[in-house]
Amino acid sequence: MAETPITDHRLLLEDSTTGVARRIFRRFVLVIGLVSTTFGAAMVIYDVADTTRQTSAALIDQGHFVIDIAKRLAKSKPNEPLAAIAAQAAALTDAEVALFAADGRPLYSTHHALIKRANELYQQTLPTIGDRVEITETLGRHSGAWVVSALPDGKRLLAVIGHQPGDEGRLRYMTVGAALLGLGLGIGLLVILLTARWTLQQPLSRLIEQLSEALARDIRRRERAEQQAVQARIAAEGHLAFRDRLLDASQWVGIIGTDHEERIQIYNSKAAEVLGYDADAVVGKLTIAELFAALERQPRSTLPHRSMMQPQQADERLVAAASGEEKLLHLHESVIADSAGNPLGKLVAFADITESRQLQVDLKLNELQLIQAAKMASLGEMATGVAHELNQPLNNIGLLASRIERKLTSFGSGETVDFMREKLTRMQGQIQRASKIIDQLRMLGHPGDRSLAAISIKRPVDDVIDLLQSQFKSRGIELVIDIDAAGPQALANEAQLEQVLINLLNNARDAFDDAETAHPLIEITVEHDAEHQRIALIVDDNGPGVPEEVSAKIFQPFYTTKVAGKGTGLGLSISYSLVRSFGGDLSVERSQRGGARFVISLPQALTAPEKQTARVDP
Ligand code: ADP
Repeated sequence: MAETPITDHRLLLEDSTTGVARRIFRRFVLVIGLVSTTFGAAMVIYDVADTTRQTSAALIDQGHFVIDIAKRLAKSKPNEPLAAIAAQAAALTDAEVALFAADGRPLYSTHHALIKRANELYQQTLPTIGDRVEITETLGRHSGAWVVSALPDGKRLLAVIGHQPGDEGRLRYMTVGAALLGLGLGIGLLVILLTARWTLQQPLSRLIEQLSEALARDIRRRERAEQQAVQARIAAEGHLAFRDRLLDASQWVGIIGTDHEERIQIYNSKAAEVLGYDADAVVGKLTIAELFAALERQPRSTLPHRSMMQPQQADERLVAAASGEEKLLHLHESVIADSAGNPLGKLVAFADITESRQLQVDLKLNELQLIQAAKMASLGEMATGVAHELNQPLNNIGLLASRIERKLTSFGSGETVDFMREKLTRMQGQIQRASKIIDQLRMLGHPGDRSLAAISIKRPVDDVIDLLQSQFKSRGIELVIDIDAAGPQALANEAQLEQVLINLLNNARDAFDDAETAHPLIEITVEHDAEHQRIALIVDDNGPGVPEEVSAKIFQPFYTTKVAGKGTGLGLSISYSLVRSFGGDLSVERSQRGGARFVISLPQALTAPEKQTARVDP
């Protein structure tokens, strides 16, 4: 609503002041005039009517009185003629009377004119009882006449009572009084009219002016108060907006504030971004405990090097965001208190340290890989030297064996010859096996390139088994391999995958040794998850297994349960980083037979093998 300026209010009020005063004044005069006129007229009418009624009543009373006297006289003097009785009654009451015979003929009158007037009036008929006639003119000073009553013998007596002179005077007086009253009222009205400006309009105007000013002052005060309130509200809103922006400006700290009941009241945008829950779903609805309970559900994605991402300090916490993704948080909790130290709520500030921890872990692993690579390089050098040295005599032994074999043909056949031929064939087999081991030793020293390729899982498994089989057999460890050579191909680096397998098999072997397992057995199988396009290579043993509390740590570098000198704690961490570099994952579970079940999950190779090859930076 548009606000009217203060000055406009005052002008409006001033304008209307005189107009209002004039209007009030006009109405007042009109009402006074009407009331006084009506009142005066009513008084005059009432006075005249009342006087007339009283005069008539007095005349009637007197008429009755005359008749009464005449009747009493007639009763007391039965022998007196009625005319004499009438004369006496008239004399006693100072009235004029006329006596009529039963046939209407006038018998007697105290006034000669009365007989004449009666004859005119009644024309030889009897006057009606109670009749009233005006005979003022006839009798001069008399006025008013009443036929009153019947006398004995059917005679009638007409008594005429003269008007009292005072009656007329009173009437006149009344009329003059009423006229004077009217005049007085008129003059009063005129005086009111003439003095009204001074007596009524001016004070009224002043009163209204004062009222208007008071009103304008009040409006001004209210407007000022409203403006102040609006300014205060704008300032408060600005303050709140600033606080919200301040909280949201924090690009790396999630802030959660609660009230004294631990219900969340403040929840900045960084907190929403990290935890994945919108402020709408959290503020005023959840307590901090409820929020963290929601964050404790199963994570959907597994973190790279998950076991190394575990909290390392008391104020670190691994949570699952709304998306299911795991986040490592560094939390700081403090109490919000009033000036007296009473707790008002709680402040939880946290930073998402997932990425920085990830970086640390990657760095550590890279470092370890470099160390391992250096070790492997020197080992490889030695292996190459030994291989070179062994190759020569081995070749010579092979050559010699084949020469003996050729020579034997000239001896034909026989028991001894057959025996020697069979032993020579076995010798050749052993020589081939030895050369293969020498080749693998050379490969160990020179892992070659790190490119990924679509490979059949069976081949590296067979190579590793060839390498380790005799050693495992000699320890009574049974190896069961169930892999379909025609199964789908996986994306990996073959030499590195072999390295991982060797690590896993050696670990199983050591675990059997430590636990003195009665019938040690290792199963190597492949599972294909077509939906997620993953191929899992599983190494399952019936050894002692990995205890729950240890399973989170075994992929950490330098974590070992083996005696000093036997374990380095590097095997699994390096295996883990190699598998991750294929885009795969390495995890441990409890085997159905109570041992450890290591799962190497690899991406399935989808297109032609040559197109799948990719280089991985060292
Ligand atoms: P190292 O073999 O040098 O100890 P690793 O990283 O290869 O280092 O293994 C770490 C730990 O994992 C081992 O010390 C052992 O406690 C545990 N481990 C690995 N494989 C198995 C297994 N098959 N059965 C039981 N425990 C195992």
